[in-house]
Amino acid sequence: MTRRAITLLGATGSVGASTLDVIARHLDRFSVAALAAHRNDAKLLDLCRRFRPPLAALHDVDAAHSLQRALAAECLPTRVVAGDDGLCEAATLPESDCVLAAIVGAAGLPATLAAARAGKRILLANKEALVIGGALFMTAAAENGAVLLPIDSEHNAVIQCLPAPYSRNPARHGVRRIVLTASGGPFHDRPDVDFERVTPDEACAHPTWSMGRKISVDSATMMNKGLEVIEAHWLFGADASQIEVVVHRQSVVHSLVEYVDGSVLAQLSNPDMRTPIAQALAFPDRIDAGVAPLDYSRLAALTFEPADRRRFPCIDLAYAALAADAAAPVALNAANEIAVAAFLRGDARFADIPRACDTVLARRSVAPVVTLDDALAADAEARALACSALGLPRAARAALAA
Ligand code: NAD
Ligand code: MG
Repeated sequence: MTRRAITLLGATGSVGASTLDVIARHLDRFSVAALAAHRNDAKLLDLCRRFRPPLAALHDVDAAHSLQRALAAECLPTRVVAGDDGLCEAATLPESDCVLAAIVGAAGLPATLAAARAGKRILLANKEALVIGGALFMTAAAENGAVLLPIDSEHNAVIQCLPAPYSRNPARHGVRRIVLTASGGPFHDRPDVDFERVTPDEACAHPTWSMGRKISVDSATMMNKGLEVIEAHWLFGADASQIEVVVHRQSVVHSLVEYVDGSVLAQLSNPDMRTPIAQALAFPDRIDAGVAPLDYSRLAALTFEPADRRRFPCIDLAYAALAADAAAPVALNAANEIAVAAFLRGDARFADIPRACDTVLARRSVAPVVTLDDALAADAEARALACSALGLPRAARAALAA
């Protein structure tokens, strides 16, 4: 069997770690062509020692230099590249046919889009790239023969419940609705919690998933589900009225597809990202992901309930952005990234996150988003508006821009 060469963008993060865990179990099937990350050179050095990739990329130039020195000192053959160009070089490497996109936030868009333009097989965790890149991304993929496989657990569940090949036209396949399940995060069942006083550690204490801090806060505000509605719109060609959100506390049913004949198909597994990652890495084969089998005694207590959209207004903000113009999801995502980063730094309250997103959506300019530069301009404008809406001091703004 020829090994599939993988480029991993976001190698030092939570999805990155789960991916490398699956790859390490199947070194007969997969090799690592490139590892990319933000600025943690010590962690990337460690991963280079273990996986011996021909290429490593760090966004931060100084961190890349220190990685290069450390690799040379150990006579390791990995070449190091830096900055946006370095990330794009990793994403388009001719030796690699498969790019796992697990950078967090809008920062992942240029490299992930470059992978689509290079016609790669893209395993997408970086939902923000699709939320802001939308049409741009899907067009680049279609024109260049790139295959998009979602590894966000809900979308991976949906793709497993859809017929293959799927034409991105729900009606053609008899699909009535796509139902995304949400754990509800740490606060959905706790009406007593005061959102003006929640701390970052409380917001990041997710009941069922272990993830990076940004997506953990998104889960606590339920903006994560809002972003996933937009992600589902682009991946599956469904309009907003065909995408439903339902709270399912146990995180065992990862999403459902309803058909016009009344059938409902679901995908179930333990909440462990290695399952959707392994499904997409090996597709159409199935491989061991190292995930424990489901304990069927847990299935006796599967519950489903509507999301509380009054306490969690981010869900409706996302539906509203999807229904508006192409710049609206860009603005929503950028405002959310700023507000979440400010909250994690102690410069904003939890309750400020939906407030800032709402204000930015109301104040932003409505401009067409046709090119990557259009998307980046709308993103930059919304970031500045969000900083003003939050009343962030100059030092905090500078730290968030770094
Ligand atoms: P994380 O914070 O643990 O890791 C983020 C990774 O992105 C790190 O490797 C970091 O170095 C890299 N990165 C950040 N900024 C960068 C930049 N400017 N340039 C290059 N690299 C940069 O995040 P995570 O939890 O692994 O999530 C990654 C993505 O996957 C997010 O988009 C998230 O929404 C999505 N996702 C995560 C999970 C999960 O279980 N963690 C589940 C579904 C989807
Ligand atoms: Mg998800």
